[in-house]
Amino acid sequence: MNSKIWLSSPHMGGHEQEFIKQAFDENWVAPLGPNVNGFEGDLEKYLGDKKHVAALSSGTAAIHLALIMLGVSQGDFVICQSMTFSASANPIVYQGAHPVFIDSETRTWNMCPTDLVNAIEGTITKHGVKPKAIIAVHLYGMPYLSDEINAIAEKYDIPVIEDSAEALGSKYNGQECGTLAQFGILSFNGNKIITTSGGGALVCPNEEIKKRTIFFATQSRDAGVHYQHSEIGYNYRMSNITAGIGRGQMMILDKHVKLRRANYEFYKENLGHLPGFEFVDELEGIYSNRWLTAVLIHPNEAGFTREDLRLALDKENIETRPLWKPMHMQPVFEKYDYYGTKVAEELFEIGLCLPSGSNLTDEDRARILKAILAVVNR
Ligand SMILES: *Cc1c(COP(=O)(O)O)cnc(C)c1O
Repeated sequence: MNSKIWLSSPHMGGHEQEFIKQAFDENWVAPLGPNVNGFEGDLEKYLGDKKHVAALSSGTAAIHLALIMLGVSQGDFVICQSMTFSASANPIVYQGAHPVFIDSETRTWNMCPTDLVNAIEGTITKHGVKPKAIIAVHLYGMPYLSDEINAIAEKYDIPVIEDSAEALGSKYNGQECGTLAQFGILSFNGNKIITTSGGGALVCPNEEIKKRTIFFATQSRDAGVHYQHSEIGYNYRMSNITAGIGRGQMMILDKHVKLRRANYEFYKENLGHLPGFEFVDELEGIYSNRWLTAVLIHPNEAGFTREDLRLALDKENIETRPLWKPMHMQPVFEKYDYYGTKVAEELFEIGLCLPSGSNLTDEDRARILKAILAVVNR
C-alpha cells in the first residue's frame, strides 16, 4: 500500500524546537512567558496595519471572546456565514444568542451581500431587533467580498468579526486578512496554514481591548495579590510552549503560502481544462493563501460525481474531503433562521477539497494526478 497522502498536515520549519528548548531551559512552561509575547509581536508585525493581537488557546476561543467584547448576550441575534466550519457558529450559542445563517455567493463562495441585507432587514421585521454582530469567513483562504460586506455593516452600524482562521497570509487589496474588520480571528490548529498544535488569536482594534481580552482569557482576575473576581472569566490563554511553536512557524509562513499556491496552480493547470472541473479564481486585488485547493465536479459534464472521485482517491490512500456542510443543513442548527437560496447547498454537493499541504512532494502530486485522471478516463 502506498503511504497516506493527507488533506493538510502539520509542516514544521525547523526552528520550532529551539523556542521550546529555550522555554524549558528558562522554566517558562507556564501559560504565559516570553514566547507568548514574542508570538504576539511576530503576528502584529506581520499583520502590519492593526497591531493588537491576543494569543489564545484556539480560534474558537477567539470568536467567543470577540462576541463577549461586543456585548453579545442572551437572546441576541448574530449573523453568520452558513458555509463554514461549525466553530464559526458555536460561540454564538455559548452566549445564549441566536445564529442567523447566510448563503454564499459564487465568486468567492463566501457571505452573499444581498442575502446579508435581506437577513438584517428580515431580523428587524421578524424579531424587532437589529443583529448584534456579523461573522464572515474567508473560506479555504479566499477573502470574502470585504468592501461590500463592510459597506452594509457600516450602513446598519453592525460590527463585523472576520473569521480569518483559514486565511492567515491572504490579502484583500493589499491588506492582510485578519485586519479587515473590527475583530479578526486566527487559528493555529493542526491542519491550518501554520500550527502551534492547537491555538488561536484575536486581532483587536486597540490596545485597551487587547488587554481586556487577555483579562477575560485568564479567568478575569482583578488586580491584587489574592484571587478576586468581579466578572466571569475563561481559561483561554495560549501557553508559552505552544507559542514557541508559533514563533518558529512564523518564520516560514510566507514560504508555506507560496507552496500552497503552487499546489493550486498545479491542479488548475492539469485539471482546469477537463469537462466538468471548475476552480475558483482570484478576483482583481485578491491574494489567497490557498489553504486548501477545492474543485467543483459538475457531474453531467464530468460523467462522475465528486463522491465517485472521493471514493476512488480514498482507495489509493489519498485523503480528500467534501466542502464544509452548510450550518443551516446541520441537525444542531436547523431550527435557526436562514437567508439565501441553494448556492452553499450546491457547493457542498459538488465540491471536493484536494490534498493541499505545503509538505506535498512532486511525487505526491504526480500520484494524486494519476489517480484523478484514472477516474476521468474510466
Ligand atoms: C479552524 C476554524 C475555526 C476554529 O479554530 P480552532 O483553532 O480549531 O478552534 C474557526 N473557523 C474556521 C472557518 C475554521 O476553519
